[in-house]
Amino acid sequence: MSLRGLLLERISQTGPLSVAQYMSDCLLHPEFGYYATRDPFGARGDFTTAPEISQMFGEVLGLSLAQAWLDQDRPDPFTLAELGPGRGTLMADLLRATAGVPGFHAAAQVMLVEASPTLRQMQAERLASADPHWTDNVDTLPQAPLFLIANEFFDALPIRQFIRETSGWRERLIGAQGEALAFGLGADAPQPGLAHRLEDTEPGDLVEICDAARPVITGIAARIAAHGGAALLVDYGDWHSLGNTLQAVRHHQKTDPLAEPGQADLTAHVDFEALAQIAQQAGCAHTRLTPQGVFLERLGITERAQNLAKPLSGSELQSLISAHRRLTHPGEMGNLFKVLGLYPATANPPPGLEA
Ligand code: SAH
Repeated sequence: MSLRGLLLERISQTGPLSVAQYMSDCLLHPEFGYYATRDPFGARGDFTTAPEISQMFGEVLGLSLAQAWLDQDRPDPFTLAELGPGRGTLMADLLRATAGVPGFHAAAQVMLVEASPTLRQMQAERLASADPHWTDNVDTLPQAPLFLIANEFFDALPIRQFIRETSGWRERLIGAQGEALAFGLGADAPQPGLAHRLEDTEPGDLVEICDAARPVITGIAARIAAHGGAALLVDYGDWHSLGNTLQAVRHHQKTDPLAEPGQADLTAHVDFEALAQIAQQAGCAHTRLTPQGVFLERLGITERAQNLAKPLSGSELQSLISAHRRLTHPGEMGNLFKVLGLYPATANPPPGLEA
């Protein structure tokens, strides 16, 4: 049985799936899920993320987080957490860059929120010296000061899609067309959760909501508000999302999201305004949404690149220059990716994210 076969069987028994149910199985089904079964990163994989492009990304994020810890009078002990750590590269680079911050490592309990057993195994090998602990969700993070990073985590959370009618909405659903999966629309129905989107949309527009983000942000923001800390959330998306952003990528190429369930990475743009509002409701302050390139430049990525470049020449130097460009240039990842910081209302925003 393939994942497609399994989904077709479920559709014939219980009817069409929401996009969220489909995404969730494609990414995390224990037997066939994309993340559950493989290491998708790097040149030979399906896509490359910022920490896999260059060590500078994790180093610079680490310095912002450690400075936020210093600014909040070095809480000890505290939780140093990452959501969806992938290969563990970002946390490894962060730890190396912060080794010189007196007391930071000694006070940190490293916690990794990761659903994939395959990736947990890679993280265990990569981060053994930090003695990390794993958890399935943020609810089980300690009630303690929380300093947290997440890169390309929220874009992997399942979204639902709705098409605007006159005053109601029709949900975009996935059903069967012979042996293939196909998009369709549910019945026109009011959606109280989308009342605020009636103001900025017209009939025919598509909006996306990510129910799964709410408990994650609430769990993080409540800890930061109560105990102190900071969160750096990096992802692609914008302040306000409008339109269909569901995307499938395999072998570095976009593909049809329904064509190969479980074989391609599925993501959607992050609606940062929704995350910021949830954080605020939980009593936490949030920074201005800042382009990744601006954030990295403010934290000195160019000086770091110049230092790393000193002993290099030829192709090594070229690849460092191109990594710096990919991370920061507005035409590459610099503007597409954004950073949102969460912090206690009584503290200063994390460095790099000041208004
Ligand atoms: N941060 C890494 C990996 C990004 S890919 C990097 O930048 O390279 C998304 C990561 O989130 C993977 O580790 C994936 O297994 C994990 N993930 C996806 N959905 C998750 C969920 N619902 N709960 C926990 N981890 C999840």
